[in-house]
Amino acid sequence: MHKLWAVRRKVPHENHPWLVYCRAPRSAVFLGGSQLKLKQLLLAFILLVIVSGVWVLQGYLSMESARRDVLMMDTFVSVMADGREAERVLDETVVEMRRLEALLSAHIEGSDVYRINNALGAQVSVSAETIEVLEVAEEVFRRTNGAFDVTIGAVLRLWGFGTEARQVPTAEELLSAMNGVGFTNVEFSREEKWVRLKHPATRLDLGGVAKGYIVDRATEFIYSRGIRHAVVDAGGDVRITGGRPNSPRWLGARKARVGVQDPVNRERLVAVVSVMDGAVLTSGDYERYFVEDGIRYTHIIDPRTGSPVRGLSSVTIVTSKAAVADAIATAVMVLGKEAGLALIEDWEGVEALLITAEQEFIMSSGMAALTEVLR
Ligand code: ADP
Ligand code: MG
Repeated sequence: MHKLWAVRRKVPHENHPWLVYCRAPRSAVFLGGSQLKLKQLLLAFILLVIVSGVWVLQGYLSMESARRDVLMMDTFVSVMADGREAERVLDETVVEMRRLEALLSAHIEGSDVYRINNALGAQVSVSAETIEVLEVAEEVFRRTNGAFDVTIGAVLRLWGFGTEARQVPTAEELLSAMNGVGFTNVEFSREEKWVRLKHPATRLDLGGVAKGYIVDRATEFIYSRGIRHAVVDAGGDVRITGGRPNSPRWLGARKARVGVQDPVNRERLVAVVSVMDGAVLTSGDYERYFVEDGIRYTHIIDPRTGSPVRGLSSVTIVTSKAAVADAIATAVMVLGKEAGLALIEDWEGVEALLITAEQEFIMSSGMAALTEVLR
């Protein structure tokens, strides 16, 4: 009664002002509500379509295939990535790689390694990154019985590697530089982040592991920015994430193919290694060396003798992380084919292709499945 009255009078009811326009208030409320809901739903749906359309389009437009080629770590570095805002992410990646190089290079004044080498045996505060690299170096030192040893810095300098003047040192010079070789001369604290060299003749050179470490860190940096397809290549130290870059994704990801150079004729490839995720990394005697009296002296030193290694032309390692791959590759160059191959077979998750000075190919048990030999 109350409501009908309100309708007839066509004046707002003080508690329900809207009742005044309704003939049959209850059903009208019901009907009107349903019409309203339908309209709202339709509107919401259209809005949703537009918003998601814009979102998908924006996502599609911000999918970029980016690439940077820069000179750092004394080599050509290429970084490629497919993903959202890849251009911006790669600019940041290059900055991050340069920051790491400035910590780890023995030749950059003020780097962690430079300060350690010039501290006359005092404790030197260093970055967490330097400690991480030393931990990898220590592990590979132990597992290779010292074939990989980052304390060969003074010996490397004597041979002139890392300087302009490469030369064969005298036996006496070598003997005195060898006094400081041995990873046991390095003391460091992970918790307090310091490093100390215990012997006055010891000098660090992280050149056999730092490049791989920086490749790993660059890869992790790119991944942390949401990009799932990337390749970081530091002069043949390659790490791949999510297969081949710049490939149409609707076909599904495809393995990236990494070429192995012919140590004799570097224009040619002798093998191709295919991986979806992981590191493919080559150490060789043909990139950095000098020749004197017909003898080739390469930049990899046997820590037992202090002299450049001989016997293997190149070692290609396939494993998940580039840092450990880098150190293992250098170690296998030192160990030679038998001991080198034994190390690889013993090290889980690591495969290798060794090319001897006589151009003989030797593969670890799991390597053939990843490798296409081209000759
Ligand atoms: P590249 O820098 O050409 O990729 P490698 O990965 O084979 O070469 O590493 C060679 C570098 O490793 C040398 O330039 C030197 O800095 C360092 N190095 C040489 N011999 C040893 C060794 N026995 N143990 C650890 N590091 C070494
Ligand atoms: Mg190496």
